Amino acid sequence: MGGPGAGKGTQARMLQESLGYVQIASGDLFREHNKNQTRLGRLAMRFIDVGDLVPDDVTIEMVGERLSQPDCAAGVILDGFPRTINQALALEKIADDLETRIGIVPCIHVSYEILLRRLSGRWTCREHGHVFHQLFKPPIVAGVCDFDGSELYQREDDSVETQKRRIEVYTQRTAPLTEYYDRKGMLVKINGEQSIDEVHQDLVSAIREAETALAG
Ligand code: ADP
Ligand code: ADP
Repeated sequence: MGGPGAGKGTQARMLQESLGYVQIASGDLFREHNKNQTRLGRLAMRFIDVGDLVPDDVTIEMVGERLSQPDCAAGVILDGFPRTINQALALEKIADDLETRIGIVPCIHVSYEILLRRLSGRWTCREHGHVFHQLFKPPIVAGVCDFDGSELYQREDDSVETQKRRIEVYTQRTAPLTEYYDRKGMLVKINGEQSIDEVHQDLVSAIREAETALAG
């Protein structure tokens, strides 16, 4: 978990590389649908472009379907899901049905001002959603993805007005989930105002600890 711009996507991709879990980002799934011009993609973008949440029913169905695919069996890192209490409850049901469980809920904390700075300088790649920052993580060649050579663009919902709306929606609808997971003893708070590598190290330590506890 973490507000928009906290570093969820950046970190989830690094964890996929270093720990071998599959990264599943609900925002990336919606953007992929939109790129393919599916009905779900067009519906989702109506909400995404103004910074609101996509309705729970379609979001839960899309993520549930993805989680039932065979590559998820060895474990996943969910990025951006759940974002509401209803989604959290649905995820518990999905985990039960798949005979698996939620190991740990890391929440990356970043102040409001820093969230805005990160979103304003974010550049995303068209092909696979790789993420860069014009100041904090610049690509080798401006406007070009280091990994696949595709064009970098600024997301429509990273415009200044929409950034503020998204942070507000996070505070109202998603932040209460941290209390829900804290009460269950699953939440681990991560200081997101460190370098990308330092945040990664903290996440790896927290996940390793949770793996040991789950195995024991
Ligand atoms: P960020 O990385 O900036 O937090 P995401 O890519 O995760 O943004 O999400 C972009 C948008 O997609 C959200 O503002 C929201 O409209 C929609 N979205 C993503 N995940 C969910 C979800 N779990 N529930 C509802 N809407 C979602
Ligand atoms: P989220 O998925 O939570 O919205 P991202 O991973 O897309 O966040 O990161 C938002 C922006 O901030 C990106 O441009 C990314 O390169 C940059 N960023 C991520 N983590 C850090 C960090 N620890 N320090 C500086 N910039 C960061």
